[in-house]
Amino acid sequence: MKKHGFQVDPWQLQWNTLDLGALERTESVFALSNGHIGMRGSLEEGEPTGLPGTYLNGFYEQHPLPYAEAGYGYPEDGQTVVNVTDGKIIRLLVQDEPLDMRYGRAVEHHRVLDFRSGTLRRDTVWESPTGRRVRVRTERLVSFTQRAVAAIHYEVEPLDGDVQLVVQSDLLANEPIDSGSKDPRVAATLNAPLVAEDAFAEDCHAVLVHQTRRSGLRMAAAMDHELDTDDGLRCDIQAADDLARLTAAVDVPSGSCLRVTKYVAYGWSARRSAPALRAQVDAALSGARQTGWEGLLAEQRAYLDDFWATADVEMDGDAELQQAVRFALFHILQAGARGESRAVPAKGLTGPGYDGHSFWDSETFVLPVLTYTVPESARDALRWRHSTLDKARERAKALGLRGAAFPWRSINGAECSAYWPAGTAAFHVSADVADAVVRYLAATEDTDFERDHGAEILVDTARLWCSLGHHDVHGGFRIDGVTGPDEYSAVVDNNVYTNLMAQRNLREAAAVCERQPEVAERLGVTPEQVEAWRAAADKMVVPYDEMLGVHPQSERFTEHARWDFDNTPQDHYPLLLNYPYFDLYRKQVVKQADLVMAMYTRGDHFTFEQKVRNVDYYEPLTVRDSSLSACVQAVMAAEVGYLDLAYDYFAEAALTDLHDLHNNVRNGLHIASLAGAWTVAVAGFGGMRDHDRSLRFAPRLPEALTRLAFRLTYRGSRFSVEIDQESASYTLLEGPSLTVRHHGEGVPLALGTVERRPIPALPKRTAPGQPHGRAPRRRTPKF
Ligand code: BGC
Repeated sequence: MKKHGFQVDPWQLQWNTLDLGALERTESVFALSNGHIGMRGSLEEGEPTGLPGTYLNGFYEQHPLPYAEAGYGYPEDGQTVVNVTDGKIIRLLVQDEPLDMRYGRAVEHHRVLDFRSGTLRRDTVWESPTGRRVRVRTERLVSFTQRAVAAIHYEVEPLDGDVQLVVQSDLLANEPIDSGSKDPRVAATLNAPLVAEDAFAEDCHAVLVHQTRRSGLRMAAAMDHELDTDDGLRCDIQAADDLARLTAAVDVPSGSCLRVTKYVAYGWSARRSAPALRAQVDAALSGARQTGWEGLLAEQRAYLDDFWATADVEMDGDAELQQAVRFALFHILQAGARGESRAVPAKGLTGPGYDGHSFWDSETFVLPVLTYTVPESARDALRWRHSTLDKARERAKALGLRGAAFPWRSINGAECSAYWPAGTAAFHVSADVADAVVRYLAATEDTDFERDHGAEILVDTARLWCSLGHHDVHGGFRIDGVTGPDEYSAVVDNNVYTNLMAQRNLREAAAVCERQPEVAERLGVTPEQVEAWRAAADKMVVPYDEMLGVHPQSERFTEHARWDFDNTPQDHYPLLLNYPYFDLYRKQVVKQADLVMAMYTRGDHFTFEQKVRNVDYYEPLTVRDSSLSACVQAVMAAEVGYLDLAYDYFAEAALTDLHDLHNNVRNGLHIASLAGAWTVAVAGFGGMRDHDRSLRFAPRLPEALTRLAFRLTYRGSRFSVEIDQESASYTLLEGPSLTVRHHGEGVPLALGTVERRPIPALPKRTAPGQPHGRAPRRRTPKF
């Protein structure tokens, strides 16, 4: 079965055609990364290419942010991820004819992203314009175990008699990129961002060292090769400025084959000298060569076997979604696995979209997945936030606030948002970071992290809320003039999501100071401060519209005029590209789940009846112009019993990239939406909530699924949850006993027993509709 170009298969993503128009899209979905290095899935021969891209996490160029009318506190500099030296390129000449898929004929062409081997494979039979055929097989990986290393295994077999082959293997810096778009979600264009510093070549090995012009960062890329052929081989290597090239010429007799293994290593630093970086990448290459291609493959598979044993999600009833969920998990792992104290950008390292910035996407959407599957990676991403605390404190100070204000978008921790109403004013990001800390601590009991990093984040964010809000004459604690998750409302008073997240932040900061009195003392926290946090939390204003019986997402929201959805043409979505913000801001139109998001993350604050009424109210107003919305709407739809609607949203979140639903996959994958696929499985149909330092489940399946199973890691234990239409089973697979809740009932888990519980029935209700033309694609036939 083939859909949207991909063959449906549970453990891999296969593409069987040569559709050059889809190159950019497939480069994103076939991107390989380990969280440190990212390589788009371009063809080895360099051309044709869609959007070439090789990225190093944290490696960016700085550029002035232009303002027509500047204002106090506007960030002066932006940061953009740099397309670094490309080490993927292997060009081939077949008897004088360059292998170029635009010429001659692709007799066969398959590409496979394999979720278990962690490699991208290609199998091409190409017929040159003069009728000579060769088979090219390649396999590449970005190593999870050797984080500075990528490798490509390249094989050419002549199919029409003896042939002369010339292979050119490159390191190429400053590849030209075309991104002349006006879409704000596209990266700022950087022309030739790298300045050559050092170039070296010997035998089969070469190194290029470059610097950025303004951000003061330096990088090195190195390559080495193993060539395997039966006949005489002529090799030559050269390196200068932006190009290093190994050229190998060989006569390959019929029935024989040329094999090349290319090892590539990357390193970057703000401090290390060019010789030190060169030494670093040379050492990484030696390690890779010592392991060898087969060894790297074996390490990669073992790493992924372990990941799937802890993180897999299985489902029966929808083969395409099964594939999509594993694709999603694979890319989440790629985005977060070996970042090691670097951010998880909104696009991972799969493309230049959003300039390579990190947003609240990371803590709110991606880190929950990592916390319950690869907790060390969640910890490392939070360490990155911690490492940016000084910048967050400076930012708070510049804004006249206390504590730490984390940036809306950034690579190095400094605010890069040039549009403050949907940037700096989105202060909720600080509570989102705090929330991710709380979740990680509850799920791991990692007291070292709490003492060394977590407590400080909680304290400084609590200080921010205390200075951002105030007690009004009635005693209520208000947080005015901020922007919540919905970017079609800005600078509002008492956004429910922000206030409830700040409330938890304040309470958790007070609690951590009690648990860690020495840290509290070191941070200069006084008992009066802790009292003030508790008082602010207790008196937090949460607006409620008594007449409608719903929560306005922020004060007076429910009094605004409704957006005229019926007269909004389909091609005017996303609205942000077709209507002025002033108009969006004064109407009831919701870009992405906001109040509904609050009901997920702070579900402990709402009654079931309130949840139903709020979902019914916001569903017809929410246009999902952000890919962060469908998964949250799915979770809440599932909780209130709209399981089929939840299922449609599940498909939307999981297929956002594979079906290119937002028409911008060329710029990179939507990592939060991919994380959202896991969220819908686990928190939506599994009903998992972690509000009170314990795990609760309230599983319920939509009709389309006969079985859903997932695995989680929690406080050193690994357990599985398996759900069918009537019951759910909980099995402890490893580690100490623990107790979870199933629809409110405590379920003790011990090794060797399977705990099975029935699923209580929920009365059927008719789901609300969506704004005109914005219903999700129906996945459920009977809906
Ligand atoms: C969303 C934000 C999100 C950003 C990056 C925007 O369209 O509105 O919530 O953080 O994209 O994914």
